[in-house]
Amino acid sequence: MKITDIFKKQKRTFSFEFFPPKDYQTAIKFGINAGQLMKLTPSFVSVTYGASGSTQTNTFELVDLFHNELGFTCMAHYTCVNATREKIAYDMRVLQDMGIENVMLIRGDSPKGEPLLKPNPCGFNYGSDLVKFVRERYDFCIGAGAYPEKHIESSSLDKDITNLKIKVDAGADFLITQMFFDNKYYWDFLNKAEQQGIKCRIIPGIIPITNFKQIKKFSELTGTRIPKKLMTKLEPYQDNPKEAAKIGIDHALIQVSDLLNNGALGIHFYTLNKSTAAIKLYESLSQDFKDVKMLFEKSLTPHIAKP
Ligand SMILES: Cc1cc2nc3c(=O)[nH]c(=O)nc-3n(C[C@H](O)[C@H](O)[C@H](O)COP(=O)(O)OP(=O)(O)OC[C@H]3O[C@@H](n4cnc5c(N)ncnc54)[C@H](O)[C@@H]3O)c2cc1C
Repeated sequence: MKITDIFKKQKRTFSFEFFPPKDYQTAIKFGINAGQLMKLTPSFVSVTYGASGSTQTNTFELVDLFHNELGFTCMAHYTCVNATREKIAYDMRVLQDMGIENVMLIRGDSPKGEPLLKPNPCGFNYGSDLVKFVRERYDFCIGAGAYPEKHIESSSLDKDITNLKIKVDAGADFLITQMFFDNKYYWDFLNKAEQQGIKCRIIPGIIPITNFKQIKKFSELTGTRIPKKLMTKLEPYQDNPKEAAKIGIDHALIQVSDLLNNGALGIHFYTLNKSTAAIKLYESLSQDFKDVKMLFEKSLTPHIAKP
C-alpha cells in the first residue's frame, strides 16, 4: 500500500527505520529486534540505503523480505550519490517489479574520507533532481528528507527550506525529518515550511539515545544540536550505556509526548536496529496516544498547532 493511502486512514503514523545487517551475526540480532518491533504493528517500516556501511543489495533484499514475505508496508530508501541515470532507472524498475510502492529519495553523502561531494555529470546533485526523475517515470509514493536545524551544508534555514520547496514541488509526497533533540526546532521549521507553501506531511524523526558516544558523533556529522541540559545529564555516563540509555529514553518520551500532544501527525523512530528503547517508548506512550486520538477528533488543523 502507498504511504499516502495510509495517511488517508491514519491521522498519525508510527514507523520504524532499520538498516540492513552487515553479516550473519548481526543478522540474527536484527531478526530478534525487528521481530519484537513488528509486534507493535507499525504503520510502515523503512530500510536505509548504503548508510552505516551497509551494502545496497542488502537494502533491496531486506525490503523484499519485509514487503513480500512478512507483509508490511515497506519504504526503500535510495540515494543517487555517484549513480548514473541508467543505474537509477534500473534500480527503480527492480523495486517496481518487487511490488514496492514507497521510496525515500535522498541525495546521500560523499564516501568516507571525501569531505566534499563532487558534481555528478551522469546523474544528479540534489535530492530534488532525483525526486523529479522518479516522479516523471514511475508510480511510487515518494518520501524525502527535511532538516529542522537546516542541512549541514546549507548557509541558512531559509535557503534550505527554499530548496526543500523545490523538492516537494518536484514530486515528494511527504517528508521525514532528520533527528532533533529540541522540539522547538521542529515547530519553528513547520511554521517556516508552511509559510513557504510546503503543505505535505512532515513527520518528525526521533532517535532515542542509547549510546552517548555514538549520538555525539551523529550530532557532529549532521549539525543536530544536543541541548545543554541533556548533555550535562548524559556526560557523566559516557562509559555507562545502561544509564545513558535511561536518560535518552526519558528525553525521547518527553519529546514524543510533546510532539503528539501538539499535533504532530506521527513519529518515525530511528531504531538503529534495536528494539528495547522504541518498545519502552511505545508502551509508555500508549495512554497518551489514546488522548491524542481524542484531540485529533476534535481538531481540524492539528498539523499547524503550535505548542
Ligand atoms: C529521512 C532521512 C533518511 C535518510 N536516509 C538515508 C539513507 O538511507 N542512506 C544515506 O546514505 N543517507 C540517508 N540520509 C542522509 C542524507 O543522505 C544526507 O542528509 C544528505 O546529505 C542529504 O540528502 P537529501 O536528499 O536530504 O538532501 P538535498 O535535498 O539534496 O539537500 C542537500 C543540500 O543541498 C541543498 N540543495 C538542495 N537542492 C538544491 C538546489 N536545487 N540548488 C542548490 N542547493 C540545493 C540543500 O539546501 C542542502 O544543503 C537520510 C536523511 C534523512 C533526513
